[in-house]
Amino acid sequence: MYKPHFSADFYLYTFKIANCTAQHPHDWSTCPFAHPREKARRRDPRLFDYEPLPCPDDKKWHSCPRGDSCSYTHNVYEFHLHPKRFRTQMCQHGVACTRPLCFFAHTLEELRCRGGWGHHASCLANCFA
Ligand SMILES: [Zn+2]
Ligand SMILES: [Zn+2]
Ligand SMILES: [Zn+2]
Repeated sequence: MYKPHFSADFYLYTFKIANCTAQHPHDWSTCPFAHPREKARRRDPRLFDYEPLPCPDDKKWHSCPRGDSCSYTHNVYEFHLHPKRFRTQMCQHGVACTRPLCFFAHTLEELRCRGGWGHHASCLANCFA
């Protein structure tokens, strides 16, 4: 049975955005917070204006010349945890999903609106238009 570790809001606005406060050395890849120089760090989508599309320059130059002001995403977390993408599609495994971090929805309650900011159930009528 699928059981998310954190709330949707945590994944959208805290996961790899808020700085890690742990003092001891630990594995960054399994820690939900952001670390200095970490490639997986995300910009808060409420403060930075970027679309859920991979940045072509980041691939080309290994580091995007526009940095934080770029309007594209720079890693898989920025891409998949973007409010316009995270849980806007159903997971093919449904509630049987065993991924520790899955970017898709497992129930209709989890399904989010593609428009970005709301819960899907409240906008079903407009959403598929
Ligand atoms: Zn950490
Ligand atoms: Zn970029
Ligand atoms: Zn899943």
